[in-house]
Amino acid sequence: MYDVVISGAGPAGSKCAEVLAKEGYKVALIERNTEWRKPCGGAISSRVLKYYPQLRNLNLLPITGISMYSGDYYQLKYSWKDIREPSYTVDRLEFDNVIRDIAVDAGVELFDKNLSFDFLYKQHHKIGVKTKHNNEIKEYLGKIIIIADGMGSKLAIKSGMRNKWKIDEIGLCKCAIMEGMNYLDKTSISLFFRKYKGYNWIFPLDEKRFNIGCGTWLETNRIYNINQVYENFLNDPFLEKFFPNRDFKEIWRGSYPLPALGVKENSLFKDNILMIGDSAGFVSPISGEGIYASIVSGHIAGETAILALENDDFTSNTLKKYKSHQNIKKIRRKFKITSSMVDFFYENNGKNLSNMFSLAKTDKDVNEMVINMFLFNQPPSREFLLRLKSIP
Ligand SMILES: Cc1cc2nc3c(=O)[nH]c(=O)nc-3n(C[C@H](O)[C@H](O)[C@H](O)COP(=O)(O)OP(=O)(O)OC[C@H]3O[C@@H](n4cnc5c(N)ncnc54)[C@H](O)[C@@H]3O)c2cc1C
Repeated sequence: MYDVVISGAGPAGSKCAEVLAKEGYKVALIERNTEWRKPCGGAISSRVLKYYPQLRNLNLLPITGISMYSGDYYQLKYSWKDIREPSYTVDRLEFDNVIRDIAVDAGVELFDKNLSFDFLYKQHHKIGVKTKHNNEIKEYLGKIIIIADGMGSKLAIKSGMRNKWKIDEIGLCKCAIMEGMNYLDKTSISLFFRKYKGYNWIFPLDEKRFNIGCGTWLETNRIYNINQVYENFLNDPFLEKFFPNRDFKEIWRGSYPLPALGVKENSLFKDNILMIGDSAGFVSPISGEGIYASIVSGHIAGETAILALENDDFTSNTLKKYKSHQNIKKIRRKFKITSSMVDFFYENNGKNLSNMFSLAKTDKDVNEMVINMFLFNQPPSREFLLRLKSIP
């Protein structure tokens, strides 16, 4: 019997497992496949390094700038060199395995090539997780079960804590890692907003490699085909300045969804179950950044589980403290506000977004506000939104 069984060893599950194991609890961390590279841009802010100072040893590419383009290619550039700590770009295969190893070093038992597909029941109570491993069924009993297996989680549905995602609640993304000569600024990431709900990105990974991808959002998913959007972006003449000879080759490619409406408020806890990370909606509705929020959710869920184990009370009465923790509350609130702004920015074929970038070019305060919104989910003031709206 484990104290805690965690399904999914991504950033949320690995952090949660580590927190528990460090306090001496017996943790089973179940992972479908540690060789899977999660389709992701791999941009992480310095806040992630506060949770994982060990990442400094990886020689990651420091990012100190961003270029954002509106649907009509109005560019907003910002550099935080010498002002803020650098952000970084990571290869998710390497990143996920480093943070899994950190959990294992803390004492977590990692069960690789195990696909969770259902709960174990005793008198209608969920008492563990069933997995498939090499055509065998395995059973992991736990006092607390933590759902951390991302967007496709079967346990999330079987728990009754949330429904399957609807197409207009998510972002659909496709990305690749390319390698070749390029003229990208290796200290800066680029985001290309579309006139419809969606954006494309190019994130340098090192001198030669870069991550390139695109996403469509919410109801736009019904109109655009993500494969076509991706092909269009790759062949966009605007990119010729970065890749004049198109002298690059694809070394990996993948597609994956992300939650696009913020935290699933009513899906975070239940008697002896917690839900964390993507599965519970911990992704910024405005930027798609989810690694940091997933790690925070994993950390707080781990601390809440410790409290429950100390008090031998696994009911929702104790586990609700996860949802009401001030850091989770902060994320929930910020995501709620930024989610409500998405419609506004894309109104009239992205006109408000273009106006915002244009204002930011000449007004330092606006520039700062826009950056804080995209990089730190800091909602802009009401006055600013009204000012934007009043621009013809
Ligand atoms: C294309 C794309 C680009 C993105 N770019 C960025 C970015 O640049 N920066 C950023 O911060 N965020 C980005 N995100 C969001 C980010 O990837 C997620 O928010 C983050 O990975 C969530 O972590 P998680 O641990 O909750 O879930 P995941 O990272 O999805 O991890 C879930 C884990 O569970 C495992 N698993 C799944 N099903 C099962 C099962 N049945 N049994 C056992 N194990 C299972 C998976 O193999 C995986 O290891 C992007 C997302 C997408 C789709």
